[in-house]
Amino acid sequence: MDFTGKAVLVTGATSGIGAAIARAFAGVGASVLLTGRDAERGERVAGSILAAGGTVAFGAADITESQTPGNLVQACLDRFGRLDVLVNNAGVIYDGTAEETSDAEWLETMAVNLDGAFRMSRAAIAAIRQAGGGSIVNVASDWALVGGRRAVAYCASKGGLMMMTKAMALDHAHENIRINAVCPTEIDTPMLDREIERAGLTREEALASYGDKIPMGRVGTTQDVANAVLFLASDDASFLTGVALPIDGGVTAA
Ligand code: NAD
Repeated sequence: MDFTGKAVLVTGATSGIGAAIARAFAGVGASVLLTGRDAERGERVAGSILAAGGTVAFGAADITESQTPGNLVQACLDRFGRLDVLVNNAGVIYDGTAEETSDAEWLETMAVNLDGAFRMSRAAIAAIRQAGGGSIVNVASDWALVGGRRAVAYCASKGGLMMMTKAMALDHAHENIRINAVCPTEIDTPMLDREIERAGLTREEALASYGDKIPMGRVGTTQDVANAVLFLASDDASFLTGVALPIDGGVTAA
C-alpha cells in the first residue's frame, strides 16, 4: 500500500486508535494532519511520527466547535496542498441506560460522535473532490450494528454514523468519493482502560474476560483497526463504498 503524495486528516488522533491510524498512514507515505483536543499529547504523537521519518502536522481542535471543520480542512490544504482522505475517529462514550443518561451526556455524545463526523465530512467533500476523488472512513463500532447494554447514547450515535456513511456513499459514489466505516469491538485503548476502571477490574482480569466473549479469544489492537482503515482508504478497496466493516474477531457473526 502506498499513499505517497496523498494527504490524510485524522480526528481524535492524540491517543488510542486515532494515533495508530495516523502512524499507519504516515508509515505508507501519506502526509498526515492529526488533530485532537490535547495539545501536549498531539505534539507527542506528531513528534514520534516525525522521528520515524513521516510527514505530519498537528492542529489542536475541539470537534464540537463550529469553526473547527473548516479550519482543519483549510489547515490541511495550506500545509499539504490537498486532502485525499478524512478519518472521523474522535469519539466519546458514557455508561448508562436511558434513565441514567443525562441530557448533557446524550448531547455531548451526539455532538462528538455524530455531529462532529457530519460537519467534518461536509467540510471535507469539496477538497476531496478537488483532489480528484478519495475517501472518508468513519470509526463506528460493533454497537453500530448490534445493541450494547448500558451505552444507549453511544449506540444511537454510532448507529446514526453508520447510516450517515451509507447515505453519503450513495450521494458521492459518482464522483469517486468513497465513504466507508469500520466497526471495532473492544480494542485495547485508553477508552477501554476507562471502562475497566469503571468495572473495578484489574487490567489482566478485564482483558481476559472481554477476550472470552470474543470468538477469536482476544480483544483487538489499535493496529487491527488501523490496518482496516488503511485498506478501506486505499486503491485496493476502489469498488467498496457504504461498507460497515466489522473489526471484531467474529462478535457480530453471531
Ligand atoms: P480514546 O479515548 O483514546 O480516543 C478518542 C479520541 O477522541 C481522543 O483522542 C479524544 O481526545 C478525541 N475526542 C473526544 N472528544 C473530542 C472532541 N470534542 N474534539 C476533538 N477530539 C475529541 O479512545 P479510542 O478507543 O481510541 O476511540 C477512538 C474511536 O474508536 C472512537 O470513535 C470510539 O468510539 C471508537 N471505538 C473504540 C472502541 C474501543 O474498544 N476502544 C471500540 C469501538 C469503537
